[in-house]
Amino acid sequence: MKKTRFAPSPTGYLHLGHAYSAMQCWSWASQEGGSVILRIEDIDQARCRELFVQGIFDDLSWMGFAWEDSVRFQSQHGEDYQAALGKLQDLGVLYPCTCSRKDIEKALSAPHIEDQSIYPGTCRDNPAAVQEMPHNLRLDVKKAIGITGPLFWTDERAGKQQAEPAQLGDVVIARKGIGTSYHLSVVVDDALQGIDTIIRGQDLFQVTHIHRLLQALLELHTPHYIHHDLLLDKDGKRFAKRLGGGLIRTLREGGQHPANVLEKIKLFSQEDADSQSQA
Ligand code: GLU
Ligand code: ZN
Repeated sequence: MKKTRFAPSPTGYLHLGHAYSAMQCWSWASQEGGSVILRIEDIDQARCRELFVQGIFDDLSWMGFAWEDSVRFQSQHGEDYQAALGKLQDLGVLYPCTCSRKDIEKALSAPHIEDQSIYPGTCRDNPAAVQEMPHNLRLDVKKAIGITGPLFWTDERAGKQQAEPAQLGDVVIARKGIGTSYHLSVVVDDALQGIDTIIRGQDLFQVTHIHRLLQALLELHTPHYIHHDLLLDKDGKRFAKRLGGGLIRTLREGGQHPANVLEKIKLFSQEDADSQSQA
């Protein structure tokens, strides 16, 4: 059976953007006769809260989205990420990096992608005595792609893509104090959980180039990708947790009916707005 996942991080309450993403997952499942699993991406324990995990359960249930029983909490599966990390280390594609955010900004005359600075490779080029200090492990992307050769992946809307992981630079694969990263955990979990279709926002389109490279290095199956458009508010901005706007919980507790929320989402949706304006 076809399978996708909804994978929020419990660092805040769900907002309309999350609800839109959830709607994409669950409508896909009903169209394809597939299922949706729920995964809680809580590797960063300093930022995650039990309260928000409960919020995710409550909000999804209220909106009528049902998930398969076994919810995977990433924080409980460190050994799976360590095993994958070991494989990457054996391939010799990781290197320790002690640079702080400030160091990186200073070293850059600064290429940025979506607010994120591209790591200039300082520690790759100067493998100093960093081993003993707390450090991140970065992926030597050029070396890695040299091992795998050209890679491809497919997005439902954008079609076949040649992976260009170098555009994101040497990303962090294991964060200091955490031992894994979003990139590593998500790739390992999607494979372990047998996810064949990944449905997520367009904002994660670029990172798929890195995920494809990790899949090749770790000899994992590559899923099919659907990167959906992002839900924008009236001012054309993305719904973001930190703005506190459009929280599902607020709507739920304010006595709204879930159907109103799903209608509201459709109104804000770019795709629907486009098709209406063309009609
Ligand atoms: N946990 C990520 C987030 O909350 C989503 C990860 C993914 O879908 O790949 O944005
Ligand atoms: Zn460094």
